Amino acid sequence: MSEYEAVIGLEIHVQLKTKTKLFCSCPNEYGAPPNTLVCPVCLGLPGALPVLNREALGFGVLAALALNAEIHKDSVFYRKNYFYPDLPKGYQITQYTRSIATDGYLEFEVDGYRRKVRIERMNVEEEAAKSTHTEDGFVLLDFNRSGIPLLEIVTFPDMRSPREARVFLERLKEILRYIGISNCDMEKGELRVDSNISVRPKGQEKLGVKVELKNLNSFKSVEDGLSFEMKRQIELLKAGKRVVQETRLWDEFEKVTRTMRVKEEAHDYRYFPEPDLLPVRIDDDFIISWKKRLPELPAEKKERFMRQYSLNDDLASRLVHERDVADYYEEVVRNLPREEKAFKLAANWVVTEIMRVLNETGQKIKNLRITPPKLAELLSFIHSGKISQTIAKEVFEKMFGSDRTASEIIKEEGLETVQEADVLEKIVDQVIEENEELVEKYRKGKKGVLGALIGQAMKLTKGKGDPKVIRDLFLKKLGD
Ligand SMILES: [Zn+2]
Repeated sequence: MSEYEAVIGLEIHVQLKTKTKLFCSCPNEYGAPPNTLVCPVCLGLPGALPVLNREALGFGVLAALALNAEIHKDSVFYRKNYFYPDLPKGYQITQYTRSIATDGYLEFEVDGYRRKVRIERMNVEEEAAKSTHTEDGFVLLDFNRSGIPLLEIVTFPDMRSPREARVFLERLKEILRYIGISNCDMEKGELRVDSNISVRPKGQEKLGVKVELKNLNSFKSVEDGLSFEMKRQIELLKAGKRVVQETRLWDEFEKVTRTMRVKEEAHDYRYFPEPDLLPVRIDDDFIISWKKRLPELPAEKKERFMRQYSLNDDLASRLVHERDVADYYEEVVRNLPREEKAFKLAANWVVTEIMRVLNETGQKIKNLRITPPKLAELLSFIHSGKISQTIAKEVFEKMFGSDRTASEIIKEEGLETVQEADVLEKIVDQVIEENEELVEKYRKGKKGVLGALIGQAMKLTKGKGDPKVIRDLFLKKLGD
């Protein structure tokens, strides 16, 4: 297998979350009752005229800026003619060869090495209606989806393994969510992926015969489907057979790809410029106004987090994955002492406790009862030694279920760490007295039993003792 490499290109369609549809003022919303968000334009009624949505164009510009692409001030909408039940006009309006942007790239890290994938073009185009095939053989059409703006992103075949394709998509999704143009929820069809893949012996310049692979409905199926297809093609070549140029479907349940159609010739869509829309011209002011909305992107943010807060790669990656989580973290840190120890404490709590709560409850971090200042207060008590991590977790659970602050809970329930040496000394003495055997072992050199002794003392303080103070007391008393 390792003598071969894959050559993979992707075509991605992303639903833009504009307020209204691309060519009419119908709301762009998910989940409304079928066929309630429609008008003559998005139903494709004769004589209805499209009016271009300015925001959709702006979203295209924003994506182009984030993906380092060249923005074209002049672009043109075309009609792509074909018949399908979900396309009542008989054509889709798309930018075809006069794209809003071309020649971008995305650079990212895969398992320790860097890869740069070039983006060939980015087109703004309209979505078709949603068709649902019922078990009894009917096709149901929902035109709420018809006319929602899409951004089509076509890459060059720059990926060399299924893993690279998956990581590219993960990074792309992060960026598109950061700039706020799409939620990219694959389950809702807000991000869809088609791919093409060929294989060739490593070192060979010439491309192999490519296969188009469809029905990749999750990042996992992108990686699994392409991996299966790569293996299938390599086995054919090794057996002296040839790969047939065709379109195949990934079967998620059987974990195989199957022929969908063998390509006879390219489709002729009879593209021609849309006569109902003027060519699009955008000026510098338009681009500048959208450039102002470009946020710090995940890769830059990760670098900054590693520098500014002394976080390692893994922790920083997990914090910047979602912009809201990164913002939450920074607000927590703003409310803590400016010390490396506090930065790390906050990072660990956000990626473990906060993420756990979000996963368990399905809440959004923005709506969490435990706001950043509230979490910061709790963490400041750990930082200063007022409470232990164990007690802090207990307090955290109580904060989650009420509106009480950490200090209120700690005060009301008497959870403060016992640091007074005389109280702890009595407890340590008690433990030493009650555990003659362990103490004997310790004195004979089995230093490992110290943990058990400390544990007993902690138990007697009901978790409120300061483990460090207790440890020092044991060391003193046991003559170390
Ligand atoms: Zn409409």
